[in-house]
Order: sequence, then C-alpha cells, then structure tokens
Amino acid sequence: MAILPIITAPDPRLKVVSDPVAGVDDDLRKLMDDMLETMYAAPGIGLAAIQVGVPKRVIVMDLARDEEPPEPRYFVNPVISDPSDDLATYEEGCLSVPEMYEEVERPARAHVTYLDYAGKERSEDIDGMLATCLQHEIDHLNGILFIDHLSKLKRDMIVRKLLKARRQHVPA
Ligand code: ZN
Repeated sequence: MAILPIITAPDPRLKVVSDPVAGVDDDLRKLMDDMLETMYAAPGIGLAAIQVGVPKRVIVMDLARDEEPPEPRYFVNPVISDPSDDLATYEEGCLSVPEMYEEVERPARAHVTYLDYAGKERSEDIDGMLATCLQHEIDHLNGILFIDHLSKLKRDMIVRKLLKARRQHVPA
C-alpha cells in the first residue's frame, strides 16, 4: 500500500465530475487500499478518489471511533436516492480543505446503492454520521466541496485563508 498526496482547494481538479467505474478489479482494489491508507494517515474518516487526483466514482470511509476496531468501508459508483425532507446539521471538515470546519445542513436520511470491495451490489438506508459523510463524499464525485454549501462570503474567506496558509508552507 502507499500513501498518496491529497489535493487541497482551490485546486481545479476538485471541481471535476468523476466517472463511474466499469467494475471492481484488482487495480481498483489497489487504489482503494492506497486511499484507505492515505485516509488513515491524514487522519480522516472519508476520502474520495478525486482527492488523490483520480476522477473515478470511488469512496473509502471508516466511522469507527478511536477506541473501536477499524471498520473500513468502500463505496464504488454510489447513488443516493430518497433523501429525507428533514435535515441534520453537522460540523464538517475535509482533508482537501485543511483545518477549516463549518456547520452544513443536509438531508438526515437517504438510501444508497453501490458496489462494495468485492464488486457486490449493495443497497441500504443511511442516517446519522454515515448519511452526512456519504453525502459529503458523493459531493466530491460531482466536483462539489462542503464549502460550496456555505455563503459566498464565508467560502471566499476560507479560500483566502487556505491560499495564505499554502504560501507560508512553500519555501521562499
Ligand atoms: Zn471532503
């Protein structure tokens, strides 16, 4: 496995709409293994392939708490349907928007279909953290960041902070 570099905003690649994959093979499992290792190393709880520069509809996630054993999950070609009318608010962060956290409102529940690590078709109802996290990651597959759900004023402020932080990290 390998740790891959994570792309951060405002990189234009994060605006790309990712392509569905034809199926799950060993090459794709290798990508998912590398994405999971990259996510754990960051550390983060979810990662979409485009965040490591690969425009494929692939997501890895682990919502287990620190004291719990790891629970890696893989979502290939995920499709959300039947979003609930009632909304849930979570403070969201993103490995591509480092060190910025803001509250985002999303449907509290929905249904998702996807292929798992073995390429098996799966379908489940989601709520809580899983619902929020999956909607955040599927947004990535459509070129959308959580800051795109905020007001333009807030978004511009965050992008300015990111650019300033990046300049400070680049040796002169
Ligand atoms: Zn993210």
